[in-house]
Amino acid sequence: MTDGAKNLLLASPRGYCAGVDRAVETVEKALEKYGSPVYVRKEIVHNKYVVKTLEERGAVFVDETDEVPEGAHVVFSAHGVSPAVRDAAAQRNLLTLDASCPLVTKVHNEAKRFARDGFQILLVGHEGHEEVEGTSGEAPEVTHLVDGVEGVDALPDFPEDQPLVWLSQTTLSVDETLEIVAKLKERFPHLQDPPSDDICYATQNRQAAVKNIAPRCDLVIVVGSQNSSNSKRLVEVALEAGAREAHLVDYAHQIEESWLENADTIGLSSGASVPEILVQEVVAHLGERGYTDVEEVTTTVETITFALPRDLRMPPRKVDA
Ligand code: SF4
Repeated sequence: MTDGAKNLLLASPRGYCAGVDRAVETVEKALEKYGSPVYVRKEIVHNKYVVKTLEERGAVFVDETDEVPEGAHVVFSAHGVSPAVRDAAAQRNLLTLDASCPLVTKVHNEAKRFARDGFQILLVGHEGHEEVEGTSGEAPEVTHLVDGVEGVDALPDFPEDQPLVWLSQTTLSVDETLEIVAKLKERFPHLQDPPSDDICYATQNRQAAVKNIAPRCDLVIVVGSQNSSNSKRLVEVALEAGAREAHLVDYAHQIEESWLENADTIGLSSGASVPEILVQEVVAHLGERGYTDVEEVTTTVETITFALPRDLRMPPRKVDA
């Protein structure tokens, strides 16, 4: 450490995941191709800055498809939608562009398959979250939400010959989900696991990166919005992993001076829906306050990307023979 300088540990990976990158680019490309307005059902991703920036470029965010004029373009957000929402859009002849993250779609497909095979589904997730509403909507008659450890006791009894599987929201805390599933299995020993992890790679990697730096930190700052599930989980993970204090902020100016008192080492991360520019604003803000010894701490390098929805992909370039 340089004399007098205080430490800033940057967790890596952080920020944009492949699903968010694709969703934001879907709206940008739709605006380029079809012009303004392009309607977006719900926040494309749960980040205030991203939504505001796209609004300034001509995107119009609506709560439901009945607010979209007949025949207009509408983008479905990264969190996915239920079949009922797709049907409502089709009835209004809306031209839909689906920015649902492929990893959310994977969970939808699991729900459909298990429902078809006669399973009851225990869906671990947060009540009211758009992703949970979309996944439940694939098989509403057989899906039971388990919101937190307390949710386990609220479930009905299932006979042992009733096939039972648990699935989950993609952005949960890995450790809390393990705890919930352990409790589910105590109550239902015949409960089946999903075929693969539903908590996505980006959520897992960002949590692991925060866990890695948290024990060294007096304070962890997570950049992200209050309605962003994966961002909120990062704050919880930091505290559980030993950070003395942890806070979620949308912008650098929300950092309170009192948080910095006696904080020699600060950790910094950001949720999967957060552009890096907002993190760099925090780095500059803290730099002005003496946190100039900056170390990037990388736990893994991500290389995943997802293709844009078909209608927005660039046509293949002609190559002269
Ligand atoms: S957090 Fe995970 S599930 Fe959500 S958009 Fe990103 S990659 Fe997809």
